[in-house]
Amino acid sequence: MNPKTLHKISYGLYVVSSKKNNKINGQIANTVFQITSEPPTVAVSINKDNLTHEFIKESKVFTISILSEDTPMKFIGLFGFKSGKDLDKFKEVFYKLGVTNAPVVLENAVAYLECEVINNLDVGTHTVFIGKVIDAEIINDKKPMTYDYYHKVKKGKAPKTAPTYISEEKNKKMEVKKMQKYVCSVCGYVYDPEVGDPDSGIEHGTPFEDIPDDWVCPVCGVSKDMFELKEE
Ligand code: FE
Repeated sequence: MNPKTLHKISYGLYVVSSKKNNKINGQIANTVFQITSEPPTVAVSINKDNLTHEFIKESKVFTISILSEDTPMKFIGLFGFKSGKDLDKFKEVFYKLGVTNAPVVLENAVAYLECEVINNLDVGTHTVFIGKVIDAEIINDKKPMTYDYYHKVKKGKAPKTAPTYISEEKNKKMEVKKMQKYVCSVCGYVYDPEVGDPDSGIEHGTPFEDIPDDWVCPVCGVSKDMFELKEE
């Protein structure tokens, strides 16, 4: 069996949110899919260790925000690599409360769905929640992000298609220093000097060593010292 076969399955990127009493939480999920159209029914697979899992079990409602291709890594880091047990993810995020009072993330979303759990399936590490869609709206016409796009483009692993113009001065710098990639030991984000981290003002062509010490991982937010040299 070739386990990499599973990587050929296509997915999107979503924020799945729920509530428990007065508390709200949400997390990144890629396993969201429609099951039937009449009545409209979808499924999500959620890790049992996650706070959102506890909230969906309790309230039996959840919402799905379909993220756009231009969603910043920092936003994905907040919902994907931090736990609602440690911080309020909704503090600085644009959202509304849906018809069930579950939170609906509107920021970076192209559309959303709101669901009531009608069934669930225990699959070891995860629970698959089956939800009847009770509300759904399109927010804008932007392109939804695919999981493949997130890995290939957003993580900066293969953005060679980007206009990577490198100045003369930078070129010399590159010859002197080895442009090695560094990987975040927490979330797996790869810092590629050829790409830099433009969202944080780190220009392409900047070696890892030259990044200011107060720079943090754009995905999970840990400090620079949590990065390790990437073995090629
Ligand atoms: Fe990280």
